[in-house]
Amino acid sequence: MTDDAARDTDAVDADDAAGASASADAGDIVLRVENLRKEFGGLVAADDASFDVERGTITALIGPNGAGKSTVFNLVSGFYEPDAGRVEVDGVDVTGLEPYEVADHGLIRTFQTPRKLEGMTVREAMLVGPQDQPGESFLALFTAPGDVAAAEKRNLADAERLLAEFEIDHLATQPATDISGGQTKLVELARAMLAEPEILLLDEPAAGVNPTLRTELAAQIRRLNEAGTTCLLIEHDMEFVMELADPVVVLDQGSVLTQGSPEAVRADDRVVEAYLGGGA
Ligand code: ADP
Ligand code: MG
Repeated sequence: MTDDAARDTDAVDADDAAGASASADAGDIVLRVENLRKEFGGLVAADDASFDVERGTITALIGPNGAGKSTVFNLVSGFYEPDAGRVEVDGVDVTGLEPYEVADHGLIRTFQTPRKLEGMTVREAMLVGPQDQPGESFLALFTAPGDVAAAEKRNLADAERLLAEFEIDHLATQPATDISGGQTKLVELARAMLAEPEILLLDEPAAGVNPTLRTELAAQIRRLNEAGTTCLLIEHDMEFVMELADPVVVLDQGSVLTQGSPEAVRADDRVVEAYLGGGA
């Protein structure tokens, strides 16, 4: 007991001494993934996967093709139900909840392939809410229509502010299908921020994005993070990961192979082997 107390005090002192920007929150876990398992037929896509995402970080989840990264995202965000294991957001057990319920606990995700936005302007696309995360607005239409009108007005103002923040306000009246892939990713990101997430999950944000917009996207993610949003991103582009993320969690065959700083992970022979074996 006394020993524990002494250790705790030491830990706090060490954090203060390090002077890290997030020192007050060091050790604060936003997302805890414990022993997640998911089978598809005979194939084990997630196999006892465990890792934590610390508040204030940009954490990357990497690994070869088929390692189970998207499966873990789907499990964590409520799109798949795990066969075993547990997911906690901000200390709350969200295992088995619906995506919109997980979103209500502050976990918002984007998708590897942004959904189709036919017949909508960029501004309208901002207002339809994250994909399959309707939240409570639909129900509220029946129970509290006045509140919905007020909420819509607020959403519109927030959407305008976010479009400006992401420097895509000039696209607001354009058909959402007419903008580039990179711009679509920025719209997705802006829309995800409308929900004011505690933690934002990004599935391959840089995939299929031209180099200029990729730099822009990285800068925007960094800006969100500095403003207080914790990020967990799946990414294939190692350069993107190295410049943006710390720590890096490496998934291989459904399990966490190793985790650490980008430098440590890159220098790890097992990681190199996993990538060669996975043919990524
Ligand atoms: P990653 O995102 O790391 O490339 P995935 O999570 O997409 O990997 O896939 C992990 C493994 O699980 C792959 O072998 C994939 O074919 C399989 N898998 C993923 N989702 C499904 C599904 N809905 N049904 C069947 N198999 C799936
Ligand atoms: Mg994937």
